[in-house]
Amino acid sequence: MLRFPMHHVQQPRSESLNKYQLSSLVTAWLTRHTPALQIFHNVPDGSTLMAPDERYRSILLFGPPGVGKGTQGGILATIPGFFHLSVGDVFRAIDIGSENGKEVYGYISRGELVPDELTIQIWKKAVDAYIALSRYKPREDLLILDGMPRNVEQVEIVREHLHISSVIYLECSDQEDMVHRIRRRAIRENRADDANEDVIRTRFKVYENVTAPVLKQFDASMVHRVDANGSPAEVLYSILESVIPAQNELFAANREAE
Ligand code: ADP
Repeated sequence: MLRFPMHHVQQPRSESLNKYQLSSLVTAWLTRHTPALQIFHNVPDGSTLMAPDERYRSILLFGPPGVGKGTQGGILATIPGFFHLSVGDVFRAIDIGSENGKEVYGYISRGELVPDELTIQIWKKAVDAYIALSRYKPREDLLILDGMPRNVEQVEIVREHLHISSVIYLECSDQEDMVHRIRRRAIRENRADDANEDVIRTRFKVYENVTAPVLKQFDASMVHRVDANGSPAEVLYSILESVIPAQNELFAANREAE
């Protein structure tokens, strides 16, 4: 019989778990309950099958490493009606001793992208787990997706699953400033990929060559450019300009359906 860990399901969203503890909780739960999740969704591969018109309503957080996507995503996550999911956080929470964990760690520690198939597989499982735990409620919440798509191929894949309202492009002209932020983050968040200068430079090259072209895949009217050099509150203010209308639309759609 399928048993849900009710103590997890009933946890209020404002509890004091930090994002790493929460990601670890989901990953640990996933590892133990993947077969159960497959039963829950009644599909053979454990993925959430959603009709094309039931894609998750989403906003993409886009920009180079260290620009503040995680910081802003974390702030938005404290507002009811937003669910922030960072693909990088999901990867970092995987048990490094597992087969997937070893493979993922190899790519991350070199500053390379994790291959698309593995990325999508892990991402879908994480989304399913957050839904099963009622942390993410697709009908009520706007998904703030941070770190995906990261190449042109991933654009098509995410479009199958997401109804994207806008792409928030955090811009910062000063690469040295971002490198500085990454170095500080290495200490604060104990991130191996942030500690090594060569790995940091590789990530910027990957961003310029492979990730930046993603922006051209979206209609310019969907892309909301935000100057990431400002204070966190100022950057948030600008992000909210495009996030509030999307949330209002979701609220209105839900009211109509009730
Ligand atoms: P940053 O905040 O520096 O942009 P992230 O935490 O988003 O870094 O990602 C860390 C690492 O995780 C990336 O350097 C990459 O190796 C891997 N990664 C994250 N998202 C993706 C993705 N969508 N596809 C492939 N690899 C990814």
